[in-house]
Order: sequence, then C-alpha cells, then structure tokens
Amino acid sequence: MIFKSHPSPLRPATERRIAPENHAPARVLLIGLDGTRPDAIVEAHTPHLDHVMQNGAFTLHASTQCDARTKSGPGWSTILTGVNPAKHRVAANQDYAQSQLRTYPTVLWRAKHTGKLKTAMSVHWDDLANHIIEPDAIDARTVGNDDVVTTAAETYVRDGDFSLIFVHLEDIDSAGHDEGFTPKTPAYRAAIETTDARIGRILAALSQRPTRATEHWTVIITTDHGGTRFGHGARIAACRRIFVFAMGDSVIPGELQRPVNQADITPTILDLLGVHDARVTDGVIL
Ligand SMILES: [Zn+2]
Repeated sequence: MIFKSHPSPLRPATERRIAPENHAPARVLLIGLDGTRPDAIVEAHTPHLDHVMQNGAFTLHASTQCDARTKSGPGWSTILTGVNPAKHRVAANQDYAQSQLRTYPTVLWRAKHTGKLKTAMSVHWDDLANHIIEPDAIDARTVGNDDVVTTAAETYVRDGDFSLIFVHLEDIDSAGHDEGFTPKTPAYRAAIETTDARIGRILAALSQRPTRATEHWTVIITTDHGGTRFGHGARIAACRRIFVFAMGDSVIPGELQRPVNQADITPTILDLLGVHDARVTDGVIL
C-alpha cells in the first residue's frame, strides 16, 4: 500500500519548498503511550487526549506492524524507523543481535543528521535508550520513570530549541500487565487517566513556549500495541489495534479514513520537518 494521499491532512497547506523563508520552523512532538488500547481511551476520562482527538486528525483503528509479535521492541522500532520488522529485524524485546537499525535509522537520527535540526528524547523504557534510539541521534536525553520523563519533557518542550522531541510513557503498559489490559479494568483506566494528566502538563508547557506563536508545531500521540488479559504479543485485534492522534497548526481535523499503520509515523514526521530522505519506508505520509 505505497501511495500518498493528496492533499495530506498533516502536511502544511503551503509547500515549504516554494517559499521556505515565509514559513515558521516546523517542529514535532511525538508522545508514545506504551500498551494503550484505543477502546480503553474511549472508556477512561481523558480530557487532554480528547482535546487532541477533537482538534486533530485521529484514528482509533490503526494497526501495529504485522511481521512480528505485538511486543514493544518491534512496535517502537517500526514507529521510529518507518519500516517493518522484516527489515529492522527487531522481532522481540531484549534481542537486538540481529537488529538492522543502523541500516534503517530512527527518525530522530535522520532529523539530527541533517545538521540543522536538534532532537531530544525523554523515555521510560530502557531498550529505547540503550538499543533502539542511536546514541548519536539525540542532543538532549532523559531516561527515568513517568514522573521524571514528564518533568523533563516539560522543560524540553517549553524551553528547548528542538525540532523533534520523543516522549515515552510506560505506566499504562505496567498497569495492564499487573491488572489486565481491558477497558473495564479500573487500574488500567486509572493509569490512562494519570497519563492523560501528564500529557496535559506537556501540552501546557508547549503553549507556554515564549516563541510558540511564531513556530509551527505538530503533536502526534500513538502507542506500540494494545493488549489482552495480562499481556500482549499475540497477533490478534486486541493487541494489533492502536490509535494515532495528530494535532497541529496545519493538521486538518477529522477522522483519518484510510488504513493507518504505525510505519506511517516516521515518513509523516520527516515530511512535516521537511527532511527529504530517500530511504525505503513501509509507511505512507498521513
Ligand atoms: Zn508490555
């Protein structure tokens, strides 16, 4: 399904190539919520996620990668590289011996290696920092629990000069493993609601940027997989079905009608940032 939709709902209305000097610098904030089922977001009280959904482009029917089990390693690797596990070869967690991530570098690495764009990450899951995201892809980094991640993300978003910021929050997935990955599980819904408040803090920090009015921002929020019972990994809808929300200065609000896959995130971010990269992708620009 390699095609491009025109006009793109996430693409700036005017082509930057034509008159780049007339455009504010494009910046992207990518927030990853580990193990978050779309139907549980609907069930939980999530004013900030609802705000992004209602003011942005959204789908509650996107798909994970389909080559590998629905684990975080293959999921985040596909989100961050734009290729499926058949190419990046991360088929499980804690198993990076066969990884081809240097052949298919992350969107952070590609943005930074333009030589013009700065990147930051604030992540909870160690594998992201130690195995998936390249050490030389990042200008500023924080690794810690969700509280630490949120506080650092606020600083990066409010005070930094980063074109691409990746934030990863883990507590929803942990609640799913402990108490169950279903919309009816109180602890799972509670973790989603706590995380929603953290998203609210990060979005508030973005609105507090002194230069916000002269910049062009897109916020994308997604997950690596869903879950069922006390885990994930199976190739079933409860694990495969994910959400993608995107809100920004050029995003056309409304439900994304065509099939969306997590491999679409990286080509979309590269397009928003104006990074022209000829590397192969399994995704399409949203
Ligand atoms: Zn998990």
